[in-house]
Amino acid sequence: MAQRLALGIDIGGTNTEYGIVDQLGKVCYENSIPTAGFLQPKDLVEAIYEDLKNRKFLKKISGIGIGAPNGNHFTGNIEFAPNLLWKGVIPLAQMFESKFEILSRLTNDANAAALGEMLFGNAQDVSHFVTITLGTGLGSGVVIDGKIVSGSNGFAGEYGHIRIQPDGRLCGCGRRGCLETYVSATGIVRSLEELNRPSKKKSSLSRMTNVTARDVFEQAREGDSFAKELIEYTATVLGSSLADFACFSNPQVFVLFGGIARNCSNFAERVKIHFESNCLSIFKDKIEIRTSTLHDKNAAILGAAASVFNELN
Ligand SMILES: [Zn+2]
Repeated sequence: MAQRLALGIDIGGTNTEYGIVDQLGKVCYENSIPTAGFLQPKDLVEAIYEDLKNRKFLKKISGIGIGAPNGNHFTGNIEFAPNLLWKGVIPLAQMFESKFEILSRLTNDANAAALGEMLFGNAQDVSHFVTITLGTGLGSGVVIDGKIVSGSNGFAGEYGHIRIQPDGRLCGCGRRGCLETYVSATGIVRSLEELNRPSKKKSSLSRMTNVTARDVFEQAREGDSFAKELIEYTATVLGSSLADFACFSNPQVFVLFGGIARNCSNFAERVKIHFESNCLSIFKDKIEIRTSTLHDKNAAILGAAASVFNELN
């Protein structure tokens, strides 16, 4: 039987990436266009349609999965996404569905990542897991009994905004002490500014300007003690926090995805150590911390495609 194909689309603040994916997770075609180049969302829908029409993919795809910031699975709308030019409520799934005349589903990017791990990545062997996506912020996708948890409004799993520190760092959500202000690319840079350690003076990071998380990973690889302490601090905060999260859904696995998990070879192991030393005895040695296996593939496209395969099956 011929492989079923889906169109996976990842809408980001900077670029929109899309690709044709088969049921085994093979990406047959992919492309990237600048999101901000389209003042109206319907123009973006049109551009993708024309490209796939020219490449003769239109009749071959069975569904469209879209991952987007603030994407609501229930309504198919992007709702008030702060990093997109399109303001307010955008009925994106419906726009794709009426243009392509096939099933189109929208989900938020963290849930798309979880579905990607479940179908094609490092969670294929488990049915209770949580993905933690570590980028500019921290996202999470919760899977229980093989099903993504959406919640009553479609916004379950906003784990980046649980508050771990009373009166802690100010978060983009307007509150203080949220997990993502510590554990994310921006969080690492804030730790660099805030933490005073004896190793800081000698660190090459102290002599650099506009330091990014990537610089911290690089310096850690070069053996810089302060850079390594920053990563260890991040692992401590995440491990301790996941020990609390485990109480909620009793997962078999946490899958870590994103820059810090990808670039620091032992990050998952360090998180695991801090997780074990903070977790309830009923969970001890029962929960794995894994690194995503989708880092070298186009995880966002795979995840978005997975969200529609999930429904087609
Ligand atoms: Zn917050």
